[in-house]
Amino acid sequence: MKIVFANSAWVTAAEWLILRGGSWRSVRLRVRYGLFFHPLAGPVLVDTGYTPEALTGEGRSRMLRLYGALLRPELNAAEQVLPVLKRFGLSPDDVRTVIVTHFHADHMSGLSLFRNARFVASEAAWARVKARTPRQNIRHGVFTELFPADFEARLDRPSAKRRIEARGSVPGGADLFGDGSAIAVDLPGHADGQFGLFFAGLERPLLYAVDVQWLLAALTRDRTPGFPATLIAEDAAAIEPTSAMLRGFLAAGGEVMLCHDPKPTAYDLKTSEREAG
Ligand SMILES: [Zn+2]
Repeated sequence: MKIVFANSAWVTAAEWLILRGGSWRSVRLRVRYGLFFHPLAGPVLVDTGYTPEALTGEGRSRMLRLYGALLRPELNAAEQVLPVLKRFGLSPDDVRTVIVTHFHADHMSGLSLFRNARFVASEAAWARVKARTPRQNIRHGVFTELFPADFEARLDRPSAKRRIEARGSVPGGADLFGDGSAIAVDLPGHADGQFGLFFAGLERPLLYAVDVQWLLAALTRDRTPGFPATLIAEDAAAIEPTSAMLRGFLAAGGEVMLCHDPKPTAYDLKTSEREAG
């Protein structure tokens, strides 16, 4: 199964904020999203990355404009989701499945682009979004204006899928396509309902661990950032156990990919990449 990741935008952060013992220098972080080609489901997106809807759209709320002004992400035009799909000969209407790992704007701002897609997302987190006021949602990093109006009708619930047992240090999860090719694994800590994707069938098993950490070094060198990174976490106490699980997976030979780590990976899109395989 072909899996690629693209970089929708760059965001700059001071290293000490995202790495324990980090310096004052700033790090240019990626904002990845994934695209894989399932033999039956066709092209599947893993999040949408940042899109203009979050950062430049005319109709944005005051709070969303403020968010953009504070974080100042730079959109990466060449690897935005629409041109990347086009490289593979696809239009947004060809996408039937978008996996939404969590509801932060840098992961889901482009959902409205995909009129024919079902959204694989945490129903429990969605229920909490609905129960909160817009202001409360913003405190959880969720901008409800970025959800398509019919989001709920198009929600595809991981909890309704077959469960797969834990493997090694990786906990059990939902078998999204019924064939073991992509397993949704809960990754508590960073955001309400965050889950990652475990591609267990690859030669070297891959766990896309989204935003468990910003930098791989926080896992590989045991440098989980403390305050103030813990302040913006949904469940700060869960970050370390989730990170420890990933360390166990790495130690057993698995590969962990994060959304924001700046270092290129073998899955990152090459400039010339065109074909679906
Ligand atoms: Zn996030």
